[in-house]
Amino acid sequence: MTHPATTATRGGHVPPFSTPPSAPAIYMTTAFDLPGLAEFEEVLAGREPGYFYTRVENPNHEAFTHDVARLEGFEHGVACASGMGALSAAVLSVVKTGDHIVCARAIYGSTHQFLLQLQASFQVNVTFVDLNDLESVRKAIRPSTRMMICESVSNPLLEVTDLQALRQIVGSSIILLVDNTFATPCGIRPKDYGADIVWHSASKYLNGHGDVMLGVIVGGEEAMRKARTSMLLYGLNANPMECWLATRGLRTLPLRMARVTQTAQQLAHWLATHPRVKKVFYPGLTSHSTHQLAQKYLQDRFGGMISIEIEGGASEIDTIFHKLAPAIPFSPTLADARTTVSYPAGTSHKFMAAKDREACGVTAGIFRLSVGLEDFEDLRQELDRALTPTG
Ligand SMILES: *Cc1c(COP(=O)(O)O)cnc(C)c1O
Repeated sequence: MTHPATTATRGGHVPPFSTPPSAPAIYMTTAFDLPGLAEFEEVLAGREPGYFYTRVENPNHEAFTHDVARLEGFEHGVACASGMGALSAAVLSVVKTGDHIVCARAIYGSTHQFLLQLQASFQVNVTFVDLNDLESVRKAIRPSTRMMICESVSNPLLEVTDLQALRQIVGSSIILLVDNTFATPCGIRPKDYGADIVWHSASKYLNGHGDVMLGVIVGGEEAMRKARTSMLLYGLNANPMECWLATRGLRTLPLRMARVTQTAQQLAHWLATHPRVKKVFYPGLTSHSTHQLAQKYLQDRFGGMISIEIEGGASEIDTIFHKLAPAIPFSPTLADARTTVSYPAGTSHKFMAAKDREACGVTAGIFRLSVGLEDFEDLRQELDRALTPTG
């Protein structure tokens, strides 16, 4: 019998059992015990299945990346602490000082900021291009171009990228990294059109319940081996608990996407007829600038995001947000189970220079609706009340 101090310290008994659980276990552990140095070498070299340190790998990371990779048609993936962590792991494993990146002009604000930071601090050259003008992409490519970054469906105006044409233009030696956060693999699988790395903010649809901060990249073996090295050296690793939650969320992704698409489609048609609304941005509407590309790439899986332009600016939108709350809250995220609204010009795209922001169409009169799983008629009435001027 050991003393209580020793008995207590050596607790954490893992009971052996052979009945598999209906849900995976959560491995909230810093490290894994190894019988000896030889076994450590075997695990390190990947010859024996096993783990040794959670910053490097953990069963929950593997469970999550395995499921995302399969949905996206790849075999390998790396989970990171956030979407931005996953972008960092991908980009920093490819480019060095003096290299060049081409990036879509209509892009998530932090992606834009990240690339500018890379340019200022490490002299990685960046050119932003308008994907509606593919000739400008061709012109932007240099011998030093290593990466092309774009979104399959852009934030927040929902422009669908012609991935097939883009792949042809950039050729085979440039790594094509596609942010598939908005479309999800239920909308489009960028790999089918030649993407090398598919990137997600898993804080959004993949998890889908507004309770996780997580990112993931999936791709081929070589690209993911390099990205994993960046992930573990820069300390971008995900938390096992977040991976576990998002793995659970993934199980209902197709159902959730079908539901939000159906409701968003109905809301977009109705909003387009609303007297207060100047313009509705939804790829499923024939009025959308990339509706034809949407039909080609998404078919009818247009997703749950709608951007709405009204007459006026921040103060009119602020009034609408106050009227929508608490039923539909202003929450600077998207893809929660509940419907939320956000204001791109003041949140996700706030730190873009005003001219860049306007160039990608993010004007002061636009707010974004992330359609959730509620009943269509309830949402329609709540939106109608908030959009209808009082007094
Ligand atoms: C939220 C988001 C990101 C960043 O992901 P985080 O998880 O917030 O780091 C990247 N791209 C798009 C399209 C996003 O919506």
